[in-house]
Amino acid sequence: MSPHSEIDLHLHSTASDGMLDPAALVAHVAGCGVKLMALTDHDTVDGIAAAAAQAPVSGIGFIAGVELSVLWRGRSLHVLGLGIDPAAPALSAGIAGQKVIRESRAERIAEKLQKAGAPGRETLARIRAAGSMPTRTHFARTLVALDAAKDVGGAFDRWLGRGKPGHVSTPWPELSDGTAWITAAGGKAVIAHPMRYPLSAGARRELCADFKAAGGAGIEVITGGGTVRDREQAISLAVRTGLEGSVGSDFHDPAIPWNPPGRLAKLPASIRPVWTGFLPA
Ligand code: AMP
Ligand code: MN
Ligand code: MN
Ligand code: MN
Repeated sequence: MSPHSEIDLHLHSTASDGMLDPAALVAHVAGCGVKLMALTDHDTVDGIAAAAAQAPVSGIGFIAGVELSVLWRGRSLHVLGLGIDPAAPALSAGIAGQKVIRESRAERIAEKLQKAGAPGRETLARIRAAGSMPTRTHFARTLVALDAAKDVGGAFDRWLGRGKPGHVSTPWPELSDGTAWITAAGGKAVIAHPMRYPLSAGARRELCADFKAAGGAGIEVITGGGTVRDREQAISLAVRTGLEGSVGSDFHDPAIPWNPPGRLAKLPASIRPVWTGFLPA
């Protein structure tokens, strides 16, 4: 039987690169048997009001969240903000900056794709016409629609991934800055999918130490799509560094059947859950 968790604190809506609009996402997540969810769109809080309004209708607990793109030692990684006040000034200012970065990055991606022989300009025009936030997922889906790749994974492998023709390095803010915006907004900062970054074990521990020193609260110990080995390593990382643990699927798309909301292992009892303070008393 598949594992099941009533907690899923990493989910995407159409406010960033998810396929379901915020209210439909909440209904879907509740229908998957999840009792407490967080909406964590990339670099935006635009979906939160609609999701929060749907949550009591669907009978699910809701945590306002975000997934910020940041840099650590020049490498891009993702930090979740959980339990944020989406209107907090420092976070709002930070997110406004992310939007500017994403817009100019999208222009550069489109140019590089065009130079490499892919329909970069057409791809960006379609993304803009749809009014979507320009993420690489949108580039990937549109490249597939334009027959420049066979599927989304193929679009990353051929065009958008690290070292590929459409890859650009992006001046995201520092991890410590993103973490500070989250904590100033009353949220807890959590390193998303910590085993997905190509780091040595030692560098990963240094990342956690730097993050903790900057006010970080936890790491995502249980993530969608991770291997058993990833999970064991993330568990030992949380135990060694004393960071709290989170659980999240990183769900984007109901058409991807192997990663539904809530299909997640339980957090081991040896790790303090990051969500304790968010549960109703
Ligand atoms: P961005 O934040 O614009 O760089 O886009 C990153 C998003 O692209 C991630 O959150 C994933 O949803 C998606 N992504 C990254 N790599 C892949 C991949 N190899 N296959 C499918 N989706 C990917
Ligand atoms: Mn994504
Ligand atoms: Mn991520
Ligand atoms: Mn994500």
